[in-house]
Amino acid sequence: MLYTSTRESKVRVTAAQAIAQGISREGGLFVPESIPKFTPGELDVLARLDYIGRAEHILAKFLTEDGGSTSSGWKREQVSQCARAAYESGFTSPAVAPVRPLPSQGGALSVLELFHGPTCAFKDLALQLLPYLLTASAAKTQQGKEIVILVATSGDTGKAALEGFRDVPGTRIMVFYPGDGVSAVQKLQMVTQEGGNVLVAGVSGNFDDAQSGIKEIFTDAALRETMAKTGRVFSSANSINWGRLVPQIVYYVSAYCDLRNQKRLWPGEAVHFAVPTGNFGNILAGYFAKQMGLPIDKLICASNRNRILADFFATGRYDRNRPFFTTLSPSMDILISSNLERLLWLATGGDCEKIAGWMKQLAATGTYEIPPELLAELNETFIGGACNDTQTKNTIHQYYTRCGYLADTHTAVALRVLEDYRNTTGDTAPAVVVSTASPYKFAASVLGAITGNEPEGGDEFSAVVALEALTGVPCPTPLKRLRDKAVRFTDNCSPWKMKEYVLEQLAGTQLSAV
Ligand SMILES: *Cc1c(COP(=O)(O)O)cnc(C)c1O
Repeated sequence: MLYTSTRESKVRVTAAQAIAQGISREGGLFVPESIPKFTPGELDVLARLDYIGRAEHILAKFLTEDGGSTSSGWKREQVSQCARAAYESGFTSPAVAPVRPLPSQGGALSVLELFHGPTCAFKDLALQLLPYLLTASAAKTQQGKEIVILVATSGDTGKAALEGFRDVPGTRIMVFYPGDGVSAVQKLQMVTQEGGNVLVAGVSGNFDDAQSGIKEIFTDAALRETMAKTGRVFSSANSINWGRLVPQIVYYVSAYCDLRNQKRLWPGEAVHFAVPTGNFGNILAGYFAKQMGLPIDKLICASNRNRILADFFATGRYDRNRPFFTTLSPSMDILISSNLERLLWLATGGDCEKIAGWMKQLAATGTYEIPPELLAELNETFIGGACNDTQTKNTIHQYYTRCGYLADTHTAVALRVLEDYRNTTGDTAPAVVVSTASPYKFAASVLGAITGNEPEGGDEFSAVVALEALTGVPCPTPLKRLRDKAVRFTDNCSPWKMKEYVLEQLAGTQLSAV
């Protein structure tokens, strides 16, 4: 299987090149030239495997033996090793991504819990695996070079990437987070990060500023050459990297298999997934799963008050000329949803010129508009919806009192948007809400939602203790331990100084041994 770019059809690279490079030279995103389809009976076979077995099987479809023109193919055994290393020990749930049924009024409802990894957010599902995929890819394509991973984070990617890449030989990782845009726990998780190859800095700006700064570094040809001369190459651990997306396809398939095993779906019966969305990476993996033939009906794209995607799926117009809000669900405070570009590429049948045009327009004017026919086609699968902070808190309260379920602020957005969808359409088909974070990552907000009182400002840990005492739901150990960890990183940089900052930091470090 080969990969091309969303903006340039001449690009043809292997999976290893796509993963090692992160983003295509002209700024497009890598996409597989074709999507493998499940054969009849294949899902029944997968249903009998555990999570690692399902992961090996699906990854191998995208990381194929034939390396194309170069000798960079993947042996099945290597793919299996990567999957085992990623999922064998780092997750506290033996199912890795368990599916929990919830009592519900308007049709069967389950929650797919993706927060049982080391950093308690769904990013772990991809970022526990990516370091193995990336170092293997680099060994195939970038012999001997140190990989410098640059990450912009809206809160959870940063920590998950740091944890995944810490002390991985041949790599160095630098994470940029929006100074005022992350929760107290998210920030503490990052600035206390251990490891000899890690660096964390705040950016005075929002996530979009940090992401744009990094995209500029990646597409700077002169800088790339300078780096190569010093034996280094940049790569990305953001969801623009194909290596982040492919592991996410696995849990959609796995959830479907679990629902079949639990007899919650009839053979062939389709299911809706509701996904709390920011950069559009998680939900796009669901779309790939659907394209592979997984019986998914609707993908419900849930936004917070930054409802740019809800508006896009309602009108066909993507318009980032609007105020940016910080919300209780900071990991979704995003106005440039990078992975939407991949969806548009798929939906236009790979029309690179069109995609490149829209993205140029977006960069220049902040807006672009797709034709009504294309929107109608997208709406056959994608339903957008949004809710504000008050609705988010009410939903947390409602699910806790109604069925004893403790949802985090992001999951609550999806629960709410799914309910709105069911109420307006009367559609009672089985649905899965994708739960993306532990409620303890946002303990103060969750506690406030349940008790109705805003906890006294400041100490996030008293909220953790109070939430545990009130609900009896245990706080994950890594979050509890944060209180006693030393802060290692205090730097701040402005978004237009990121390149200088990166170079300055690299100048002071030795190449790490590969
Ligand atoms: C990253 C994140 C999201 C958004 O996921 P995307 O793939 O960016 O759409 C939602 N919830 C949480 C908790 C996250 O960390």
